[in-house]
Amino acid sequence: MKIAVFLGGPGSGKGTQAKLLAERFGYLHISTGDMLRASVAAKDSLGQKVQQILESGGLVSDDIMKDVVAARLSRPDCRKGVLLDGFPRTLRQAEDLTSILASHPQSRLVVLNIDVPAENLQKRLCGRRSCAECGRIYNIYFQPPRQDGACDTCGVPLAQRRDDQEEVVRQRLEVYARLTEPLIAYYRDKGMLNNVDGQREVAEIFEQLSGLLQSE
Ligand code: AMP
Repeated sequence: MKIAVFLGGPGSGKGTQAKLLAERFGYLHISTGDMLRASVAAKDSLGQKVQQILESGGLVSDDIMKDVVAARLSRPDCRKGVLLDGFPRTLRQAEDLTSILASHPQSRLVVLNIDVPAENLQKRLCGRRSCAECGRIYNIYFQPPRQDGACDTCGVPLAQRRDDQEEVVRQRLEVYARLTEPLIAYYRDKGMLNNVDGQREVAEIFEQLSGLLQSE
């Protein structure tokens, strides 16, 4: 199974690209952020543990994340390939991923970095809105819906993630720079980094990522 991980900052387009790549290649898109938000919404035991952390923009502990990701990757729907969006986010998680994959002997890790400067990420995050019905993502600055606040396809009101509010975004970007950005050098030193300029059209980035995923 091929496992692609995305290293771009929050708002770099990881989720959008992972979704498109999943459709093209028939791989599974796993977003650790979506998994955690689903647990919070369901108020299950994981959700109760992580709710406050998500709301503050901090990171869930590496131990919890290791268990969550290991359990998810062992399910049969991952066999064909996985686009892992949101993990690893710390050096410890990168090492944990290596050890998780050691128990999947057929696995091959592909590392994709969607490069977007930090100053650009803030507007992408604070402007992000999504449709709860179809999952389509908009940005009030860059890709606004035709009618203010409503999905073009479904017409339902668009929602903002709680952690896309300005104060939380500042915290998430700080956490990214301090804990996640070092992963770029970590994978570059291992000769595994594929860097992609994230400040182009979605379709252009998608074509480049598709090529990389195919050839890696
Ligand atoms: P995301 O949707 O990927 O931006 O994730 C939303 C939030 O979920 C993050 O701000 C973290 O609080 C938490 N989260 C998601 N993935 C991880 C991870 N790999 N390690 C720690 N926390 C995570």
